[in-house]
Amino acid sequence: MNFSQSNRHHFIEKLKNEEFDLLIIGGGITGCGIALDAALRGMKVALVEKSDFASGTSSRSTKLIHGGLRYLKQLEIKLVHDVGSERAIVFKNARHLVIPEKMLLPIIEGGSLGKHSTSLGLAVYDILAGVKWKERRKMLSKSETFVSEPLLANNPKVTSGGLYYEYRTDDARLVIELAKSAHANGALCLNYAEVKELLYNEDNQVCGAKIFDKIGSTEFSINAKRVVNATGPFVDLIRKEDKSLYGKRLQLTKGVHIVFSFDKLPLKQAVYFDVKDGRMIFAIPRNGFTYVGTTDTVYNQSIDSPSVNKEDTTYLVNAVNDMFTNTSVSETDIVSSWAGLRPLIHEDGKSPSELSRKDEIMISSSGLISIAGGKLTGYRLMAEKIVDLVGKQLRSSFPNLNPSQTKKYHLSGGEFSDEIAFTTFLTQLNSDKIFAQLPSDLKEKWIYRYGKNIAAILKNLETLLNSENKTKDVNELCLEAEINYSADNEMNYYAEDFIIRRTGALYFDKPFIEKHQTKLLSLLANYGKWSEQEILENAKNTTEILKAATTFD
Ligand code: FAD
Repeated sequence: MNFSQSNRHHFIEKLKNEEFDLLIIGGGITGCGIALDAALRGMKVALVEKSDFASGTSSRSTKLIHGGLRYLKQLEIKLVHDVGSERAIVFKNARHLVIPEKMLLPIIEGGSLGKHSTSLGLAVYDILAGVKWKERRKMLSKSETFVSEPLLANNPKVTSGGLYYEYRTDDARLVIELAKSAHANGALCLNYAEVKELLYNEDNQVCGAKIFDKIGSTEFSINAKRVVNATGPFVDLIRKEDKSLYGKRLQLTKGVHIVFSFDKLPLKQAVYFDVKDGRMIFAIPRNGFTYVGTTDTVYNQSIDSPSVNKEDTTYLVNAVNDMFTNTSVSETDIVSSWAGLRPLIHEDGKSPSELSRKDEIMISSSGLISIAGGKLTGYRLMAEKIVDLVGKQLRSSFPNLNPSQTKKYHLSGGEFSDEIAFTTFLTQLNSDKIFAQLPSDLKEKWIYRYGKNIAAILKNLETLLNSENKTKDVNELCLEAEINYSADNEMNYYAEDFIIRRTGALYFDKPFIEKHQTKLLSLLANYGKWSEQEILENAKNTTEILKAATTFD
């Protein structure tokens, strides 16, 4: 059965009527990673997400699969090693979503990095993180640094530089591909389904949850042998509901990114640079834009809607202007933005940037398993740990549980055995006659958004191109082909699902959305058979989302 909103009622019937080995609360990278691992090992899995998949922190990150360089500074040696190995695994398994990106570290007078310590640090990092030969560090003289990034050339403080590699991704799409893969292996994953209450058996052990279906406005219960709380910044709210909020607690910190058009900040390459307060931030060119982030500030406000304020933008704009003295940006140049919350574990006396990014598992007396902290990059290992734990607890049902299968499992769209297979795929696409009709900027976007699944969208497009009574505007036909795919195969429902999590267009293609907003809404309304009220709400919400991306109070 397709992973489609039109099958939603079937999924709900199954969720209501069957008993699951594992119920996962939260459809971010952590929850969807666990769902895939458990499903691949033969567990019967349900996952519920109160909003859209990846609508929490997992669509609001710096969008890097890190090698873990910053942990070296904090001497978290094992973490550098784990994160480095995981990066290589994600690269192999989701090849279409992970793109190596050369990163320049400018070394500045009085900065946090010295030339020799950086050279040594990067060399240690190359070994610990198992970095490929061709991606190993390269130290640069001052003039080489300026050639590498001309926007730095007038900065008198820059003394030299270093080059290393980060891997760029689309965080939300990684989650969507995980959810699709989990679904393909039998997991029942439902978005817009909120846990309202936990259910307990007569021994006071958690055995399921009461769910509110936000699309159908109905309630139902899911029964499960084990329940995992993978709700990121919301982890403590679920622990509170379980009456187990003692011991370790979350410390939320907010991280903001702002986006400029490439013309305004035309970086030749990505840069990871010092800010006056001793922190470091990224500036990364991407699809005709350049994004900059992140901030790291203690956060105690609404978890549901973190927003970007003036203080955040001033901090980032000043940081850009201090470093790239060959250009100048201002707040009015910002074309989009996002804010995310890091679900970190509180440690007395530590500042936000000093808090460990390690993950923590907490098991309550009711048996609720909560997992928090961690990184996008380490999702697979976190999932493996959780499923090992659940497997041990359910030994009688799974006496011979397989070890995790995810190391070698290619995610949906990423089914390439090796680099040659990926290159062959690209060559074959170039001789596809439907692909040839795509606007040139869309070709690359679709390849790195959908990987092998691009075939299904091209098929949709072919049907549309051949049908009569259709607009001849190829941009609109492509939009329709893409929307049909995401609704049919990625549980896309609302306009915001599409413009934020399915395509990232709010951040890296906002002019397109603004231009085609009416068409987009009418296509989604037709597909989802929206009521009048839903049509009005979606139109209002889309306008608000577009406005909020450049409004900073
Ligand atoms: P989330 O993605 O927040 O998912 C939790 C989900 O639970 C949410 O979708 C929420 O709606 C759902 N939920 C909550 N309550 C309920 C309920 N009652 N019922 C059902 N569902 C519920 N990591 C990297 O590796 N690389 C980076 O570049 C990077 N950059 C970052 C930059 C910033 C600014 C931030 C904030 C984090 C960054 N991280 C990065 C860390 C990474 O993004 C997070 O560790 C990760 O996304 C957390 O995922 P999660 O699934 O645990 O939480």
